[in-house]
Amino acid sequence: MENCLFCKIAEGSIPSNKVYEDDRFLVFHDIEPAAPTHVLIIPKKHIATMNDVEQEDAALLGDLHLVAKEAAKKLGVAESGYRLINNCGPDSGQAVYHIHYHLLGGTKLGALVQHSSSHA
Ligand code: AMP
Ligand code: ZN
Repeated sequence: MENCLFCKIAEGSIPSNKVYEDDRFLVFHDIEPAAPTHVLIIPKKHIATMNDVEQEDAALLGDLHLVAKEAAKKLGVAESGYRLINNCGPDSGQAVYHIHYHLLGGTKLGALVQHSSSHA
């Protein structure tokens, strides 16, 4: 996909600090970590958002969870605990429109959700 940051990272034309890579997935450190451990897990296939996931992607995204499990072990947070987060669309704050999961850990994580409006 042209002009997709994470497609470029997946193909290697933009560098990343890699934790794990195979033919279908890449795990790399987030450039602005929000926790002591903060990596991004992406399928190399361009899927823009959770809303664009199709039945044919079910096995891929299922296997992504196995990659996440192994990444958590490798990063030393499997036992202490971690969060796996997908942001979808504007209200979630999704900034990069190539599906990705944040794996966050290495500290006691705060509230799951912080509302940006007093009405939310
Ligand atoms: P999201 O808001 O869920 O779309 O998350 C996008 C994430 O990508 C943010 O946490 C950014 O810090 C991260 N990010 C943006 N550019 C890069 C990059 N070149 N390498 C690693 N992480 C990045
Ligand atoms: Zn992409």
